[in-house]
Amino acid sequence: DADGDETSRNAPPAKVVPLRRQYLQIKRRFPDTILLFRLGDFYETFDDDARLAADLLDIVLTGRDMGKGVRVPMAGIPHHAAEGHIARLVAAGHKVAVCEQLGEPGAGRGLVERDVTRVITPGTLLDPAMLDARRNNFIAAIVVHDRSAGFAAADVSTGEFAATELVAASADEALRALDRELRRIGPAECVVPADDASRLESLFAGSADAPPALSPTESWRWRLDRAGETLRGHFGVESLDGFGCAGKPLAIRAAGGLLDYLLETHRSGLGQITHLTTYAPDDFMTLDGQTRRNLELTESARGERRHSLVAILDQTRTPMGARLLRRWLSQPLVALAPVRERHDAVERFWRDSTPRAEVRRLLTPVGDIERQVNRCVAGLVTPRELASLRASLAPLASLADLACDLPGASDLRASLESCEAARRLLARAIVDEPGGQVGKGDTIRAGFSSELDGHQARVREARDWIAGLERTERERSGIRSLKVGYNRVFGYYLEITAAALAAAERDRALAGSNGAGPLPADYLPKQTLANATRYITPQLKEFESIILTAQQTLDDLEADVYKRVVSEVAGQAPRLLAAAGALAYLDVVSTLADVAALRAFVRPELDDGFRIEIRDGRHPTLEAMLEPGAFIANDATLDPADARITLLTGPNMAGKSSWLRQVALIVLMAQIGSFVPARSARIGLVDRIFTRIGAQDDIATGQSTFMVEMLETANILHHATPRSLVVLDEIGRGTSTYDGLAIARAIVEHLHHAPHLGCRTLFATHYHELTELEQVLPGVCCRKMDVLEDGDQVVFLHRVVPGGADRSYGVHVAQIAGIPRGIVRRAREILDDLERRDGVDGDRARKRAALRAPMAESAAAIQLTLFAPPHPAVAALKELDIESLSPLEAITKLFELRRMTQDG
Ligand code: ATP
Repeated sequence: DADGDETSRNAPPAKVVPLRRQYLQIKRRFPDTILLFRLGDFYETFDDDARLAADLLDIVLTGRDMGKGVRVPMAGIPHHAAEGHIARLVAAGHKVAVCEQLGEPGAGRGLVERDVTRVITPGTLLDPAMLDARRNNFIAAIVVHDRSAGFAAADVSTGEFAATELVAASADEALRALDRELRRIGPAECVVPADDASRLESLFAGSADAPPALSPTESWRWRLDRAGETLRGHFGVESLDGFGCAGKPLAIRAAGGLLDYLLETHRSGLGQITHLTTYAPDDFMTLDGQTRRNLELTESARGERRHSLVAILDQTRTPMGARLLRRWLSQPLVALAPVRERHDAVERFWRDSTPRAEVRRLLTPVGDIERQVNRCVAGLVTPRELASLRASLAPLASLADLACDLPGASDLRASLESCEAARRLLARAIVDEPGGQVGKGDTIRAGFSSELDGHQARVREARDWIAGLERTERERSGIRSLKVGYNRVFGYYLEITAAALAAAERDRALAGSNGAGPLPADYLPKQTLANATRYITPQLKEFESIILTAQQTLDDLEADVYKRVVSEVAGQAPRLLAAAGALAYLDVVSTLADVAALRAFVRPELDDGFRIEIRDGRHPTLEAMLEPGAFIANDATLDPADARITLLTGPNMAGKSSWLRQVALIVLMAQIGSFVPARSARIGLVDRIFTRIGAQDDIATGQSTFMVEMLETANILHHATPRSLVVLDEIGRGTSTYDGLAIARAIVEHLHHAPHLGCRTLFATHYHELTELEQVLPGVCCRKMDVLEDGDQVVFLHRVVPGGADRSYGVHVAQIAGIPRGIVRRAREILDDLERRDGVDGDRARKRAALRAPMAESAAAIQLTLFAPPHPAVAALKELDIESLSPLEAITKLFELRRMTQDG
């Protein structure tokens, strides 16, 4: 037991009071964690922590007398089983502080020195068993100031660390931008300045994704001077300009606040964070959380990975590749050159299937080099992980040959070749199949350390010597019954029975010998028993001490040598990580080539024009779900010079949403560097994809479907640029028919007229009345989903063809959905009746007239034609200063106007 009486589990109370004091002192510094307090072979928890741990870990809650008659609840876990238990506590949303014994137990008097060596939180995990190999485990930090925000993210298991500054037109906008970054990386934990915690908490409220654990830290840690100092101190630099932080105070504050927290949680070192990258969100396509979800990039609408785009594309062979592909997917590029470079690399492997297959074969056994190297740096790596690292490095040389002259990877070959030294070291140092722990089984290969080998030889020699001792001593003494024995008090001894000794003496007397006794002179009597005597010899004692201390010495020596090997590998970390990056690139481009070949994708042509032209495009995930050949390919063309708004009509279930998503997905895939599902695709770069698809109530924020729809639409209208792709599905669906029609039409007109927009737009609607816009707005082109009608029967052909639907087919869909026949028949009657009456009272005629009204100067003016003037709503509308309205005010106003028309 570690500190003798003081720490044994049942120690007498009088002595443990100082231990209690030590515990409380440490616990006070880590109030919001479960503190695991090392006592000998156990980690103990006390008080509320013990109750919690007993409950969560299903371990026994006991008590311990801590002096003064106070019994403290206690629950403990054996130290060798700690990792699993820590994992469970963290998975349950807790932070765990591990307090170790720092001094040698028993050395000196009093308590062993103890302190917390690491704090484990959801965002700072290093244990591979607790991490998903194919995803990063990010911890983020945010700081806000006026209309700007700082954002930083790190993955301590891979060493990534990046920051950015978001400058916006308003505080709301800054929060929106933050929200986009948060959704992009999906952190497990988010660190914030304590003073802003409650305000920032609202960022996570109402999000459909699982919100990260929020960790507030004191606000002074986030001050610019302090944050800068934390960063400069850690990286050992005079200035942060080299990291691209110049003039980005909020990026520095966020990164510094995050690093400060990480240093607190990784108290024994954070060597894996070697640099900071500063990036600008504008370098990548902007995608808000809604759009990521609508396009089902990483999970389907049902929250499953299958049927998402990543499930189709991610055929990577290595964890590094899987993580890189996810990053590409979450950050499509917006500059031509780097995208073309990726396409070039994919094309090389796509054209040449032999090297592609070879690269993928070689990559298959490669493990998580990135995380293993970082565990070397943190000093946590196990011998088994080192062996796996060695296996991962083995194919690097062959991969380097295959990767030479790969576009976009000029230094790839050099990085792959630079790990040879580390690989050779591991080959020499570590045995073929080491165990999970040093000291358990052999770890270091014979021939690597002469000191270790020498010691091992001496131990072997001593064991052999003792094994042969009985035989040699029997010969030497002539006593055939001599026995070698061992006990804990005297150690090794030679035992000779009294009878045998007497017989030997008799023999000597008979032989006429005299002088010394019958036994060899170096036999020293040690213990006399009733009928035997035990002897020792000086040589026996020498070998005994070798054997008895041997195992401990061997373990210590092996641990030392192991530590040296680990730190030597850690010293090679920059090269190894560069190689891991090179492998990830190789993995991703060969994967994209493989998927392209398998699924008949083509290389898209990118340019910086504005035209999007897709021939025979397909929806990548829907196609994969359907029977081979069942998917109907469709074209799409958007061009500001011609028609940049496509108005798509057609019955429900005909495939409208699928086509909208398909176009957006093809654009996105093209800009991550992938080939695309089409016969050909030409894409003028897109800076942002906006989607407004599907209607969901936002229950968390208590907003109605329609309100959400309008808020999202308002956001799009405010932010789209001529480079953007806007996808709007069924705008106006959430309200009554005429409101919906009016809003839908007004929005199309606005998209068409507003000079700052000019965005390429796909607009699906079931308001077939809107198709008449094609005649009045030159930038609008109508398409419809083709159907085959045969009497009452309607067959969906899933083909997008020119023209507009002239009616909706809701009643028909009700029929195929299995609504009872009688109801469907009755619905048809009512529909006919309504249509007839519509004709009589002129409502439809009025609607038509409104839609055909001559083009007015502005979209606002056109809206007016929907109301019969003169009307108070018109006056109110005229008064409106639309430019100055916020989206929310606009919607409120819209409601007001509608009420006015109803009241009237
Ligand atoms: P709603 O208006 O009800 O949302 P929709 O017109 O948007 O319907 P989708 O949801 O896009 O229709 O498609 C409905 C179904 O039709 C899909 O689940 C798919 O099975 C099938 N489908 C859509 N497009 C195609 C296609 N191009 N080829 C084959 N099947 C398709």
